[in-house]
Amino acid sequence: MLLSVVVPCYNEEKNIRPFYDKVVTELGDIIHDTELIFVNDGSRDKTADELKKLIGQTQCKIKAISFSRNFGKEAALYAGFENAAGEYTAVIDADLQQNPKYIIQMLEIIKNNPEYDGVAAYQSLRHESKTLSFFKNCFYKLINKITEVEFYRSASDFRILSRKMVDAVLSMPEKCRFSKGIFSWIGFNVYYMPYEVESRLSGTSKWNFWKLTAYAVNGIVAFSDKPLIISSILGFLLFAVAIILMLIVIIKTLIFGDPVSGFPTLASLILFLSGIQLLCIGIIGQYLAKIYTESKSRPVYIVKDILENNK
Ligand code: UDP
Ligand code: MG
Repeated sequence: MLLSVVVPCYNEEKNIRPFYDKVVTELGDIIHDTELIFVNDGSRDKTADELKKLIGQTQCKIKAISFSRNFGKEAALYAGFENAAGEYTAVIDADLQQNPKYIIQMLEIIKNNPEYDGVAAYQSLRHESKTLSFFKNCFYKLINKITEVEFYRSASDFRILSRKMVDAVLSMPEKCRFSKGIFSWIGFNVYYMPYEVESRLSGTSKWNFWKLTAYAVNGIVAFSDKPLIISSILGFLLFAVAIILMLIVIIKTLIFGDPVSGFPTLASLILFLSGIQLLCIGIIGQYLAKIYTESKSRPVYIVKDILENNK
């Protein structure tokens, strides 16, 4: 098997068939040496029925893994990788925002350049608001500063991986998964290829600003312990400032007989310090929550059923 194509699907009933048709057209002859792995991530619409119908009609090798509920795209990707048998594995969304023609381009690059172990597509043009772009820029600047791995600004999950890379991803069975980080952390030589993102064929994006923020925090906590170090340094600096302030107050009172000035100063200091304390406890809490999740060792996903044809 040359190629496995992993397709995470959550409420994509109207996209399954057009996506499949487009993949068959774009892959050409390669489709006969390809398996399509659809991971139905607990969809509440008719995605499962569409996949069942497709499997009954198609001439290509298809596997449809259905989860017992929505576990998130990260879990869907992991399940896809676990089931991928191809020499190369591609990851692509089901909503046709990523044209399957790029899979062929990525395959060409990786086959013709043995020095590369993977090809990742990045958006050459971003169709998003300036505010979102600004926050994304800040996130990448921050995460690149505080982690030891490099995060490529516009790279998405749309990529192709060699067998070695897939095995490396599978060797990381962590529960709090952050694929962007995992893909960077495993290393290897990755070629970054530009692609133009298209608009969603049907349905809506599952992401909003708050989900993206939670995802960003998750990524930072999963790949950096710097926030903990920064909160310790902050605590130490504030302690030093407090000592200096205390000395100034004592000296002023003893030598100059100045009364200790001002309730407002005191109130704002208390507010400031308790704010910092809560922030630091919050940071520790984030890490504690992750340790809690990891220590329970629950599976990344639970499968309800797997359908496949034996083509
Ligand atoms: N997806 C998934 N589980 C989820 C959310 C999304 O499998 O909980 C799939 C979704 O069906 C799509 C891909 O992940 O194929 C990307 O999702 P979406 O289009 O919502 O993200 P965007 O393109 O807006 O980043
Ligand atoms: Mg999309």
